[in-house]
Amino acid sequence: MISYKTGFGFDIHRLEKGNGFYLAHIKINCNYSIVAHSDGDILLHALTDSILSSIGENDIGYFFPDSDEKTKNISSVDILNKALELLNNKGYKIENIAIIIVLEKVKLTPYREQMKESLSKLLNLSVDNISLHFKTNEGLDSIGENKAISAYSNVCIIKED
Ligand code: MG
Repeated sequence: MISYKTGFGFDIHRLEKGNGFYLAHIKINCNYSIVAHSDGDILLHALTDSILSSIGENDIGYFFPDSDEKTKNISSVDILNKALELLNNKGYKIENIAIIIVLEKVKLTPYREQMKESLSKLLNLSVDNISLHFKTNEGLDSIGENKAISAYSNVCIIKED
């Protein structure tokens, strides 16, 4: 028997003037940085939350509270790997992921293939099963004013018994 489940994740972080930030474990060179307790890889945070959501687990903040000094500057790859471990323990694997990043000024398109390759390695998933969309916020609100970045992630998982 084959069973499918889906999960959904969201994250938002503040931006400040800086020297770039990481998305999907790839350095994005720009004049902003992401304000965060961890390394601020918002794409991996939304992805991790979608995986946790797909298996009915609590959110990232439950496993890695930002009040915990031990998790300060923690790598988002470690956070992701915790969710993958829980996923594997339940006998599921990822079928495909669809991610949207909302960011006003910084152009991510030149990094798309690199980011997909990175996700492919991190998840052991074919790039054909990874979708990355980039949107602006049409100049509206905090994201439109370059004060924030947000990410959405949808994941489909599969178990074959
Ligand atoms: Mg986050």
